[in-house]
Amino acid sequence: MSRSVMPGGQPGPQRATDQAPALTEPSRAYAELADGNRRFVSGAPRHPNQGAEHRAAVADGQHPFAVIVGCSDSRLAAEIIFDRGLGDLFVVRTAGHIVGPEVLGSVEYAVTVLGTPLVVVLGHDSCGAVQAAREAAATGTAPVGHLRAVVDAVLPSLRRATAEDVDDIDGIVDIHIAQTVETLLGQSPVLAEAVEQGRCAVVGMSYRLAIGGVRPVTAVPVGAATLDVPSVDVPSVPDGPAATAAA
Ligand SMILES: [Zn+2]
Repeated sequence: MSRSVMPGGQPGPQRATDQAPALTEPSRAYAELADGNRRFVSGAPRHPNQGAEHRAAVADGQHPFAVIVGCSDSRLAAEIIFDRGLGDLFVVRTAGHIVGPEVLGSVEYAVTVLGTPLVVVLGHDSCGAVQAAREAAATGTAPVGHLRAVVDAVLPSLRRATAEDVDDIDGIVDIHIAQTVETLLGQSPVLAEAVEQGRCAVVGMSYRLAIGGVRPVTAVPVGAATLDVPSVDVPSVPDGPAATAAA
């Protein structure tokens, strides 16, 4: 791929403006993420764009090809699981990938100012924020401090899951990912317009902690090429220690 470089840095000119053309097609950006995740899952990451030369090359400007709105879970490090480097991903992470004004503003900055063509909502199995919201709803007790804001933001997804008769945690996570995509588009006319004009796509993805693979959950526009790229083939594994203490 034209954007990929060998480990150790970007060959050729050092100025950001002289780099390979930025990825501007949502489907290409998605394919790039999928490719990187396959490398990560297979245990053969290339660690692109992490060398000193590339660091210098992107110092004058950034052209990230994807925004990641992900859960803060420490095992969900975006550049690692998508095998990318400096300047590639514009990352916004909150517990349970909840969305507030600062998140919306950050996404809009990337999409409108930086021209980033893809927004990914990245959730994961056994999400602790979703679990906490489910427990709060079941017991009728609210968590203390600002954790309540996280739980409150997840509760609409729980209500939707109940209405759809979904009660397993990972099924609820999928609904919460889809709900977050809808929240982004519903609360950001700027983002919705970018999608309407074909400048951007929004994809919800779920990550499996034990395997390292992502799979698409939802996409806007529906049926767009963004979902045509095969997701990583994730074998089923029994629940284990890796599924505990999730954020
Ligand atoms: Zn989480």
